[in-house]
Amino acid sequence: MRLLIKNGYVVDPAQGINSGKSVFVEDGRVVGLMGHGDEPPEGAEVIDATGLIVAPGFIDMHVHLREPGQEYKETIATGAASAVAGGFTSICAMPNTQPVNDNAAVTRFVIEQAERAGFANVFPIGAITKSSEGSELAEMGEMKDAGIVAVSDDGRPVPTAGMMRRAMEYANGFDLPVIDHCEDKSLARGGVMHEGHWSLVLGMRGMPAAAEEVDANRNCQLAGLTGARVHLAHLSTRGAIEAVRRAKETGLRVTCEVAPHHWTLMDDAVQDYDTNTKMSPPLRSREHVDALLEGLRDGTVDAIATDHAPHHSDEKALEYDQAPFGMVGLETAVGLSFDLVHGGIIDLERLVSLWTSAAKVLGLSNRGHLGENAHADLTLLDPECAWTFDPFQSKSRSRNTPFAGRQFKGAAVATIVGGRVVFLHPDYSRITAGQKRAASAR
Ligand SMILES: [Zn+2]
Ligand SMILES: [Zn+2]
Repeated sequence: MRLLIKNGYVVDPAQGINSGKSVFVEDGRVVGLMGHGDEPPEGAEVIDATGLIVAPGFIDMHVHLREPGQEYKETIATGAASAVAGGFTSICAMPNTQPVNDNAAVTRFVIEQAERAGFANVFPIGAITKSSEGSELAEMGEMKDAGIVAVSDDGRPVPTAGMMRRAMEYANGFDLPVIDHCEDKSLARGGVMHEGHWSLVLGMRGMPAAAEEVDANRNCQLAGLTGARVHLAHLSTRGAIEAVRRAKETGLRVTCEVAPHHWTLMDDAVQDYDTNTKMSPPLRSREHVDALLEGLRDGTVDAIATDHAPHHSDEKALEYDQAPFGMVGLETAVGLSFDLVHGGIIDLERLVSLWTSAAKVLGLSNRGHLGENAHADLTLLDPECAWTFDPFQSKSRSRNTPFAGRQFKGAAVATIVGGRVVFLHPDYSRITAGQKRAASAR
């Protein structure tokens, strides 16, 4: 099948392209870019991207799908549907399911369920240790053969430096990046929010920034010791960003991600006791948010990722102390990241880079760009699209978000996976008129 995404403005930072082009796709792969005036390829269906930004498909490298084990919160199919509705063509599934993805059978199950659903590409992340219990390394090689793209014990971070060193050495042998949720549990001590002014005022147990920073520094030092690829998840503090900046300066293979809620909200949001503001790492104070924005701006931060963490409303209806950590994020993340562009923090090219360079972090060489023979995964953006988020219209099975009713400017309006339109914003149905016409003419 031939498809021409015509008359859009292509932003492809990996190739340094920032200009009006059409994208020609055949059989799920990119054939090449064409000028707007060029003769369209024969028999191609047409998507009219006039006035839209055409970007390589956005990748969210940090997502919790709850299958297997907690399908009442999210399934692989509902999570993948939510992903494409949010503009993502690929997502990575964290391994803290029930059972934990610590073996090839679970890895294969996740991939098969995702293929059956047919929305976003789903790349599983395997556990570092068996059952993520921190004591015995998982069979990384077998999981890699089955399709994992990284290893992580997200949520139950590897407790000791000695174990993390062995994990990095082992993962490095399979050229797998090690993703760590940086949290020293002996410092976090069961805290439920950021330790600072607001935790004192509200009388809640706090998690100090140091709990993240001690672990982030540990991991950077171990990256130096082992030479492994190390990726620090959802960084939320100034000291952690600084640790990554230093590690990069010394040439270590350290990368990091930041989540939209961490720069959009601060710990003062907890004062209403809305459990949708409870996440780990927690919402922080101004100085930390400023450091995240600086890292997003200056290139220290490699990727934005949602840490999409669905929970049932009954669980989030518990008292703040008792409620689980996390929020859904797939359908608000691109809108929140447009705030950075409209606010003058980053430009559009950097925005696309932050949502696509996970391909580089994970070694997915045929994704994250629109070069010849890349997978035909594309995200079409309208930076001016004004919209309001209604969680009850969400494709996710869960509704735990602090952004219900929030107004946004900028959206992903079409999501194309493998040359197939898998999501189209209802106000933009005009863009596929050429596709439908071509299809009905056959
Ligand atoms: Zn985490
Ligand atoms: Zn997570």
